[in-house]
Amino acid sequence: MSLDLATETKITWCPGCPNSQILVAFRQAVEGLAARAELEPHNLVAGAGVGCHGKISDYLKVNTFNSLHGRIIPTLTGIKLANPSLTVVGFTGDGDSFSEGLNHLVHAARRNSDIKVFLHNNQVFALTTGQATGTSPKGFKGGTTPNGSPDEPMNPALLMLASGATFVARTIASDIAQTKALMQDAMRHKGFAFIEILQPCITFFDTREYYRERVYWLSSEHKASRFSSALKVATAPIDKKVPLGLFYRVDKPTFESTFATVRAA
Ligand code: SF4
Repeated sequence: MSLDLATETKITWCPGCPNSQILVAFRQAVEGLAARAELEPHNLVAGAGVGCHGKISDYLKVNTFNSLHGRIIPTLTGIKLANPSLTVVGFTGDGDSFSEGLNHLVHAARRNSDIKVFLHNNQVFALTTGQATGTSPKGFKGGTTPNGSPDEPMNPALLMLASGATFVARTIASDIAQTKALMQDAMRHKGFAFIEILQPCITFFDTREYYRERVYWLSSEHKASRFSSALKVATAPIDKKVPLGLFYRVDKPTFESTFATVRAA
């Protein structure tokens, strides 16, 4: 019997919102892994934070919940620590984890907690109708920055590399097939996996054309096992070209395995 992760809840994202593409990619990723017996859906936990992205928890027939704003990462860290046999995934937004709860993300990465974090990066607080977040570009005009944001944006992939993440990737919501494949690789990875998903907000910050003109996929020449190569693509200025793909992947002991050793000592 094929797996169907769709719920009957009415989707209330704006018509055409790329969040729907992320939802489809994740459903397909889970359904594909389950079909190959690489994942048992009843052992999957997929939580979400607060923001437009957070509605995804209503549209997935899996173990799911919404955390407090900015607190999805520590909640998932605790779930994985309590039951290491679970596959633990967290959806978050740039308002949720690059403005509100950034510290949790850094600590989960440095610990190599075996959780998977999928960042819906729309570079705006969309649910509250358009304020600047930590990833909004300099000059962004919104409710709290009517004359343009004076701040430089954070670079999620670079920050995760610097924090010790063992799997770092970037994709774009409109490419469902590649997003699905990266999500599957992240769920197979033993350790902290982070995927930045460029997700234009078509209502409050429509960057579809900007990215359409600039994104490109890394070729097979990119060595994802080399930290220096990952740094090079993560620091590439995105005003001209925006690299997508698996930037970095290495194997290191997970937080859960190290914690078990320390506890037994
Ligand atoms: Fe999507 Fe933006 Fe609408 Fe939120 S406000 S549902 S991010 S298009």
